[in-house]
Amino acid sequence: MKVGVAGLGRMGAAIAKRLVEVGHEVTVWNRNADKVEPLLKAGAARAASPADLAARVDVAITILTDAKAIADVYEGANGLLSGNVAGKTFIEMSTVQPETEVALAKTIAAKGASMVECPVGGTVGPALQGKLLGLAGGTKEDFAHVKPLLGQICRRVDLVGPIGAGASMKLAINLPLGVFWQALGEAYSLCRHLDLDPAWLMELFADTSGGPNVLKARGGAVALALQSKDPGSATFDCDSIRKDFRTMVAEAKTLGFGLPLAEKTLAIYDQASQEGWGRKDCTELPAFWSSQHK
Ligand code: NAP
Repeated sequence: MKVGVAGLGRMGAAIAKRLVEVGHEVTVWNRNADKVEPLLKAGAARAASPADLAARVDVAITILTDAKAIADVYEGANGLLSGNVAGKTFIEMSTVQPETEVALAKTIAAKGASMVECPVGGTVGPALQGKLLGLAGGTKEDFAHVKPLLGQICRRVDLVGPIGAGASMKLAINLPLGVFWQALGEAYSLCRHLDLDPAWLMELFADTSGGPNVLKARGGAVALALQSKDPGSATFDCDSIRKDFRTMVAEAKTLGFGLPLAEKTLAIYDQASQEGWGRKDCTELPAFWSSQHK
């Protein structure tokens, strides 16, 4: 299958690399052309523009920052939808409000093409290994068409409803994740004075009823950050979490209610960002909180 990835941020690049590795003919495009080079070395082909990418592939994948990025890449001059795309399939994987995906699907349908949304849980490591969690929205037929491809990116991919349902589910699953890092920071502040080894502590927390899956994978990085050691490069940074939480709060407003815990958590991520932690991984938030409350 000829597959394209438009948008080679952390996630798009990892997904494109994975698709090359499993044997697809992959064409890539990114606004900032520097990010294309590593993919060309991995075996992908370069498209001159989103329109060129759409012309060359059967299925085009996007995973972009936000609604504005989606509008620019799909509907801008030389955008993905600027040529004849009848019969092609678009898989939109960004974390955005459902209304963004619903509006995009209508525009795509008007061009005679189809769309499946599939925002994902998991970060760069799982993307490289094909182990993301896919939350798809669309028709059963469109989903069936792309499920084998999504199965090469995701360890699990579920059709959760029509277009927009995937976006709702993605916002829902990220809420407890983002809140967790702050909860862990506060929990750590209650036992920090015991001077226990942070690596051991994280392993213990991960073995308790309140320890989520992510702590098994990322506890080591948290422990390093708590000791002011380098936990490695950010894969899901605090500024990205802020964007997700702003989106959750906006979506709840659309639905007619508030999210008190998410709003409070967002304020703490905002504070971390103002103090220079925005580009650091969200696993460093407990260290941020701990450094503020000694
Ligand atoms: P990222 O590294 O910041 O990459 C963002 C991508 O969007 C880049 O390719 C960027 O292009 C492109 N972009 C932004 N604005 C654009 C515009 N106006 N026109 C064209 N391209 C534009 O972000 P990421 O971490 O990969 O995340 C991408 C999406 O996946 C987000 O919606 C995020 O919430 C979601 N997500 C992230 C993770 C994660 O762990 N990082 C996990 C699951 C889902 P340039 O390179 O030219 O700036």
